[in-house]
Amino acid sequence: MLGALLTFSGSLEVLMDVEPNGPIEHKCDYSEDYPVMGFLQLCADRRFHSCLQNQFQKDANLDSAQKYWIHADAGGTPAMAHLTTAPDYCYHTKGVKVMGWSAHGDGCGGFPGQPDERIRQALAATAQEKVKAYPKATHFVYFATMIKEADAGEMVLYCMKYDKTAE
Ligand SMILES: [Zn+2]
Repeated sequence: MLGALLTFSGSLEVLMDVEPNGPIEHKCDYSEDYPVMGFLQLCADRRFHSCLQNQFQKDANLDSAQKYWIHADAGGTPAMAHLTTAPDYCYHTKGVKVMGWSAHGDGCGGFPGQPDERIRQALAATAQEKVKAYPKATHFVYFATMIKEADAGEMVLYCMKYDKTAE
């Protein structure tokens, strides 16, 4: 199946022809088409994204993960400064008023070998550019990391809020 998919990646019809019983269809839960209310950029690292999403939802007062876009890649915001299609779309076309920017320490695949402090500084610098680029939004900036104790670790999340609309 995988070999066929890789060989005949051109069209779904070809895939269905080579799979005798056709593709397996899964039903997903129906989701209401909510208006886009927010935007959150984050590292793809499995350890931190649910923690970041939960905090962003609290801060942005969004009761569902389906009410905002996420934009994830290795390194999060400081490594994604040039990727503007998604945030531009959410801000300019969809009019989001709440935006989140983030990065994490404790070893990030987007910043191999870099210490937490360096990533944190890069996040702060990029976040300042984003605050200027999207001036009408309220911005939350998050840095997540692990604090390691003797035999246990604890995840901590540092949050900053920039509310330009209050100025
Ligand atoms: Zn990372």
